[in-house]
Amino acid sequence: MQEQQERIIVSWGEEEAGPLVCFFAGIHGNEPAGVLALERVKIELSQLEIPFRGRLMGLRGNLEGLRQQMRYVAVDLNRLWSKEQIARVMALDPALRNVEERELLQLLTHVEEMESSGHSPRYYVDLHTTSASGGAFSVVSRVASHRALAEHLPVPIIFGLSSALAHTTNRFFEERGMVGIAFEAGQHDDPASVDGHEAAVWMMLVAAGCVDQADVPDWNRHVATLQEAGGGLSHFQQVAYRHAIEDSDEYRMIPGFHNFQTVSQGQPMGFDLHGEVFSPADGRILMPLYQPQGHDGFFIIQDLDEPPV
Ligand SMILES: [Zn+2]
Repeated sequence: MQEQQERIIVSWGEEEAGPLVCFFAGIHGNEPAGVLALERVKIELSQLEIPFRGRLMGLRGNLEGLRQQMRYVAVDLNRLWSKEQIARVMALDPALRNVEERELLQLLTHVEEMESSGHSPRYYVDLHTTSASGGAFSVVSRVASHRALAEHLPVPIIFGLSSALAHTTNRFFEERGMVGIAFEAGQHDDPASVDGHEAAVWMMLVAAGCVDQADVPDWNRHVATLQEAGGGLSHFQQVAYRHAIEDSDEYRMIPGFHNFQTVSQGQPMGFDLHGEVFSPADGRILMPLYQPQGHDGFFIIQDLDEPPV
């Protein structure tokens, strides 16, 4: 069970009873912050003997990607989670499956085990970081229960990303009727991103009823960490634009943009083979691309008064 040993960061609590919270960390292999945060929480749970109900699971996403510190080896593991993609991968000759297709099927085995357990409620949180600096936020579908889970984190909720990005874990949670969100904590290698993930892990454990808030070490510090990382933005944000790119575009972002930075319509954002690329709208920049792998140059988000229905 080599795979299990490497896959499972933390497995804590009761096998069948009570709530369950499962975290995916490192679905992108160049995003180790979630793994480090879950290791910290595991140490605190055991050393401080914190009263615990139900189950905490923390799973490494892309084992091979994490080993190689690459976003992905063959294909983006966070673009394989739709019904169609899963069916396609399952139908493939096992010998022909690429690295991420194998990782996907292994993760699905773990998820199916959890889904057939007696735990209730069951929450799933996919932990990520960005290549640009700053800015923590959650990403949800339009499903009300997903938004309700995200409301437990004091960071902006971004709507429209899960539909702009095809076949992510958000789509999987929606299609399977599972309650799940994605959470972005900041820049890949920033120590503050580990703090942000740790704060989110504790908050999700409290939201699920696994841990009492009063028993969480440094609760107020965790709240302050996320409030600061949330940048004081209004709580609901909508994607107004996605700058989709292909490798052949040779897109390069102008250096120095950070998440949530205000930008204006017509402002130069980057360059590709055809010349300069401009922002098509006023708003704030999200996830400007500062890594070699990826197909989203940047996003523009705008304030929403109310969540979409
Ligand atoms: Zn990611």
